[in-house]
Amino acid sequence: MAGILAQDIKFLPGMGPRKALVLNQELKVFTLGDLIYYFPYKYVDRTKFYTIKEITTLLPYIQVKGKLMGMEVIGIGRNQRLVGYLNDGTGVLELIWFQGIKFITQTVKTGVEYIAFGKPTEFNGQFSIVHPELDEYVPDSTKKEGYIQAFYNTSEKLKSNFIHSKNILKFQYAALQLARGTIFESMPGWLVQKLGMLGLESALINIHFPQNPQVLRDAEYRLKFEELFYIQLKLLHLKADRYKKFKGHVFTKVGNYFNDFFYSHLPFELTNAQKRVIREIRKDMGSGRQMNRLLQGDVGSGKTMVALMSALIAMDNGFQCCLMAPTEILANQHFISIQKFLGDMSVKVKLLTGSTKKGERAIIHSDLLSGNLNLIIGTHALLEDIVQFESLGLVIIDEQHRFGVTQRAKLWRKNFVPPHVLVMTATPIPRTLAMTVYGDLDVSVIDELPPGRKPIRTVHYFENKRAQTYDFIRNEIAEGRQIYIVYPLISESEKLDYKNLEEGYEQIIKAFPMPDYAIGMVHGRMKPAAKDLEMQRFKNRETQILVATTVIEVGVDVPNASVMIIESSERFGLSQLHQLRGRVGRGAEQSFCILLSGFKLGAESRKRIETMVATNDGFEIAEVDMRLRGPGDIEGTQQSGIAFDLKISNLAKDGQILQYARDIADSIISQDPLLEQPLNDILKKQLIALKKNHLNWGSIS
Ligand code: ADP
Ligand code: MG
Repeated sequence: MAGILAQDIKFLPGMGPRKALVLNQELKVFTLGDLIYYFPYKYVDRTKFYTIKEITTLLPYIQVKGKLMGMEVIGIGRNQRLVGYLNDGTGVLELIWFQGIKFITQTVKTGVEYIAFGKPTEFNGQFSIVHPELDEYVPDSTKKEGYIQAFYNTSEKLKSNFIHSKNILKFQYAALQLARGTIFESMPGWLVQKLGMLGLESALINIHFPQNPQVLRDAEYRLKFEELFYIQLKLLHLKADRYKKFKGHVFTKVGNYFNDFFYSHLPFELTNAQKRVIREIRKDMGSGRQMNRLLQGDVGSGKTMVALMSALIAMDNGFQCCLMAPTEILANQHFISIQKFLGDMSVKVKLLTGSTKKGERAIIHSDLLSGNLNLIIGTHALLEDIVQFESLGLVIIDEQHRFGVTQRAKLWRKNFVPPHVLVMTATPIPRTLAMTVYGDLDVSVIDELPPGRKPIRTVHYFENKRAQTYDFIRNEIAEGRQIYIVYPLISESEKLDYKNLEEGYEQIIKAFPMPDYAIGMVHGRMKPAAKDLEMQRFKNRETQILVATTVIEVGVDVPNASVMIIESSERFGLSQLHQLRGRVGRGAEQSFCILLSGFKLGAESRKRIETMVATNDGFEIAEVDMRLRGPGDIEGTQQSGIAFDLKISNLAKDGQILQYARDIADSIISQDPLLEQPLNDILKKQLIALKKNHLNWGSIS
């Protein structure tokens, strides 16, 4: 931003250094440009005047034009208020002030025509507006009569420094007056024309001072499009750049490993989604570019099989492969199921975790280096520098959001030519978010569960149905099933939470006494070995009920467990609830999820629980989650390094604009990957100007 837009706000009329400082601190607004890009959060239509006769309390903000007939102070002490009577010929509207009575009495004149603006309320058939905005009506002033008024978010500190929404509007007016004629178009002319968009200057003026609703929509569209477009352009540009810099291994062969497995070892028919995703991965790894692919698939959708078959392709091409999981339990589980899948095939697989014995560890290290091992499965232990490969061709990371950026980068560097990377996540994130957070990755989605799964039945009970819930548990156990009971744990350090868990445990032990029942407990404060032992006991059916915190959230597979009880379910986030529920429904039996809650439910908790009862679809749940919490808080995105500072667009609402912006950016990049054509000059300049914080993780996923 150059020229006038780069000027300090403190020189604006009515601003001064003190207010400027508050704006710096509270809104990060330093320059006229910053100010102009501080957009309204809502608008109120002040083009229409209501007559007093027309008023109902169903209306939001309204304005009325009338003569102030008189004013009086009523009541004493805290009840004291100033009441003005506004008459427009159709009736009388009361204007009420509880504060600033002295000031209003001195400045407002009876017998004068005013425009009063605010939200109407009713008491005993009499309408009133409390603390109205009041402007003297000036007949020839077109400014006050008939316009759409922008409103800006403010803070307590802003308000106490006399910077209300209305003041910001005045500053905007002054800033736009100065900047007019100097705001340069930030998109190439051909693109503005092609999309029939408003020019930048006109969009900025109309976003603050809309001439009419239509042009306001156009202004909003233009600014949203631009914001989303440049993020997409940046991500796709980054990807094109990476393709140019890093040639990937070319896996052209499909050989014995893959074919032998596919024709003689595959224990079930792949789902169509699995087939499609394997094709996508195969194509990517054969393209000559380094693969950076995110595989999203709901819990139980069969990602492990996709991982294994991808690994077999790498082996067919003479490369090694590693599969990393966030916990020992998960790594173990992968190891066991992959060994089972492979059966008598001559694939050399080993497991490397924190508890691998020293001697064994040394053998693994040397076998990896000599190329004696085809596939290594493990935990963070794989990241150690001592772990080196003969030729690492493919890195697969499960439950990726548990790993940080630097950890991923470490794996990436274990080969001279960077290996292909497949990250798998069971936390579905909404498409719009994936496009933004993982916009420089390719995304594959398994959107289908293996056949024969019975959808989990979910119910919501208030606490008074605990007895019935326990009866239900007894019945299920009598049928040979196992049960999870999960207690909320907001933070590992909160003593209170552990009290909940322990009291819950006591309660369960009383309701399900020995020797008929055996109960286990796991939580985050236990030593990993003790935790694993408890998990193992549950897996081996030595315990029938597992009382737990959310430590069982990730990937644990006990097909015989068919009931998930979630205590105080109103305290869990949606994606957490969904992950927990995914622990059941893995076997052939009908599974159940019971969400227990207190009677008092906030609107959001209610919506979360209703959503859980209504659907099993992780993507649908993720969409609701994003709408409830906003895109910045969605699990799996915080660690991505992308700062969410969208100024005007909203990923929960602007999906269509985003898709369009992405398509356009895509077609530009595919014609001119590095933006070298003069036609795209502005695009390149804008990308360079965009702040770095959208960038820094891109090339190392
Ligand atoms: P997730 O995607 O949660 O990692 P898993 O890979 O653990 O899912 O698969 C869940 C279960 O479904 C496993 O027992 C797996 O063997 C089984 N499975 C995977 N694909 C299929 C399929 N196409 N048909 C039947 N069962 C399958
Ligand atoms: Mg899994």
